[in-house]
Amino acid sequence: MPTQVPEAAKHTSDQMIPGTIGMVRLFGVPVRLHFTFVLLLIFLVFIGVGERQSGALTALYILALFGSVLLHELGHALVGRRYGIRTLEVVMFPIGGVARLERMPKAREELWIASAGPLVNVLIAGVILGILWQRGGLLPVETLAQPSDANLAHRIALGNLILAGFNLLPAYPMDGGRILRSLLARFRTEDDATRIAARAGQALAIAMGLGGLLSSNFMLVFVAMFVYLGATQEAAAVRGRTLTAGYPVRAAMITDFRTLSHSDTIRDAGNLLLSVSQQDFPVMHGGRPVGLLTRNRLMRAMLAEGPDAFVAGAMDRDFPRLSPDQDLSEALPVLAGSGSCALVMDGDQLLGLLTSENLSEFLMLRQISRHQPKTGADSW
Ligand code: ZN
Repeated sequence: MPTQVPEAAKHTSDQMIPGTIGMVRLFGVPVRLHFTFVLLLIFLVFIGVGERQSGALTALYILALFGSVLLHELGHALVGRRYGIRTLEVVMFPIGGVARLERMPKAREELWIASAGPLVNVLIAGVILGILWQRGGLLPVETLAQPSDANLAHRIALGNLILAGFNLLPAYPMDGGRILRSLLARFRTEDDATRIAARAGQALAIAMGLGGLLSSNFMLVFVAMFVYLGATQEAAAVRGRTLTAGYPVRAAMITDFRTLSHSDTIRDAGNLLLSVSQQDFPVMHGGRPVGLLTRNRLMRAMLAEGPDAFVAGAMDRDFPRLSPDQDLSEALPVLAGSGSCALVMDGDQLLGLLTSENLSEFLMLRQISRHQPKTGADSW
């Protein structure tokens, strides 16, 4: 199902998608269940028992489909690994999995990574149907509408074909949308290609949502919402990357900022927080930054230790760092990972701060200035 790339102001590289439980590692890729997935499993087992199919085989059917989705995601992950892109985790949602990749693949890489998932499902279906055919046990398709123990293997094969077909719909964030995007990127700009694929995703989502409402199929409405949000978020993430690529971190960093000293107290930090609009403060010692006190850490220290504690005990010593000449597009995942703020450092020297807010201001300025005639030496 969809692969997901890191985006600014969303999921973080070291933090997981919220609401996930349990974890297994398959081929080195962490796989988690979203709690809604467990609810769905319980629901399916509940409604499946007592039909013409035994409870045990109902459970087997669900497990087989679950396994198929998992193998689909591993297909993405393993091809991604061939291109040196790590999959941070696979999260299983009721309507499928989401593979979170460490970085955005290039257009040619994306084509193969996206194709790998549906291809896995086609292979699974092919193997099952091949075996059934060899044994002369292929049933007509109409009989599959009545689930029974006898047509279990057929239904697993059909389920895989449906998974492949659904994912090949040419609409973001489905795999087919990624394939479309990577093909369009050959003769359009990446920005245009993304916009077209995302529009297709939104159009598909609206059609599915209406179809679901008209037929009172609320699962379809749910899927439509997921597709719509996915299309919108991905388009925003890629736009951010396109708008920042080629610009150094230096161009967007805050250069006019306040710092705290190693020996300041939480009370001093609170006063500073109130007096300026800045929320995250580098903590200095001997002219060098030794930590970062974010607003959250400040609040937590105030609650836990009171105003007389020292900032040195509350600050983050392992703060995110960026180099001033690093590409700004590389800063997006770093910033998303830290939550809000990174220090821009040249060696030991603190040059500036980069926060989610000023990065989004930079994006806004770039977005507007792209549509204006060039006037001079603006940094954005
Ligand atoms: Zn997929």
